[in-house]
Amino acid sequence: MNGAAVPMSLLEISHLKTSFFTHLGEVKAVDDVSISLDQGETLGIVGESGSGKSVAMLSVMRLLSDNGRIVSGGINFRGRDIAKLSERDMENLRGKQIGMIFQDPMTSLNPVFTIGNQLTEMISRHLGLRKKDARGKAVEMLSAVMIPSPDERMRQFPHELSGGMRQRAMIAMALCCDPDILIADEPTTALDVTIQAQIIDLMKDLKKRTGTSVILITHDLGVVAGLCDNICVMYAGRIAERGSSTDIFHNSKHPYTKGLLASVPNPKKLTRERLVPIKGAPPDLLRPPEGCAFAPRCGQAMRICFLRRPPLFKVGDLHGASCFLNHPDAPPEAV
Ligand code: SF4
Repeated sequence: MNGAAVPMSLLEISHLKTSFFTHLGEVKAVDDVSISLDQGETLGIVGESGSGKSVAMLSVMRLLSDNGRIVSGGINFRGRDIAKLSERDMENLRGKQIGMIFQDPMTSLNPVFTIGNQLTEMISRHLGLRKKDARGKAVEMLSAVMIPSPDERMRQFPHELSGGMRQRAMIAMALCCDPDILIADEPTTALDVTIQAQIIDLMKDLKKRTGTSVILITHDLGVVAGLCDNICVMYAGRIAERGSSTDIFHNSKHPYTKGLLASVPNPKKLTRERLVPIKGAPPDLLRPPEGCAFAPRCGQAMRICFLRRPPLFKVGDLHGASCFLNHPDAPPEAV
């Protein structure tokens, strides 16, 4: 995962800008974001609400609301420019090549059809299987996501399943056509901690078995630990920092990432340690700040931070951080 053009990336997002046009003005939800995803990679995109992480992925799926638009930049999937595909091609691509699961499965599962109907319809449409074969494949997928008594579940409606079961059914639906990429948008946020852990384990296991590339969107750095190869931290529509999991968890070079890390409990530490929340609120993207978007909340902000937007400084092989503390002239030992 890196911002430079890497040949053979499965998905290459370059300099993406996506805005929403409201009666109050343009909201720059994604502002010059470059991300790439390789075959078999698991990438975590982490940030608070409004950081642009979901909007970036909805741009990839071309599922923005009516007032949202990709203003500039490119999204290349297997060498094809997604912006140029017809709606019909996009319908084929969604589900079949790129699957997406959401925080609330009820937004994707149709409440008036049984789980079996929905899975069978999806499989016959995308894979061209006859109804009987599609039904067999649907049962197989429900078993693959550890849903007990899959035959019985096929006859149930979404509201008859528990939250965890619905999320598993959603994952089964997203994976039933064997997509190249699975985008999971806050897949565990609405679940209690025990079920959260089960869903994360399930995703790890499925990834190992199928080799699907995964993009995991979350506000919780704890969720990506142990699951993601690489991580992008987003703030106010921009990339604050990106790197391997080791770079982000053990050698972070951005005060915002450090703030996120300090606010996540570490079960391995036996000492009682106070969690430190990041003070303040993200900026209003209708009127984004001139300089570093994190400056009003940053304990290390310098004068330049309020005047100029920090570029992404290369701080390691694949490690980059948008923070002036990584400038060669910054005070030594600043980060
Ligand atoms: Fe803080 Fe300045 Fe770095 Fe922004 S650029 S994170 S304000 S030190």
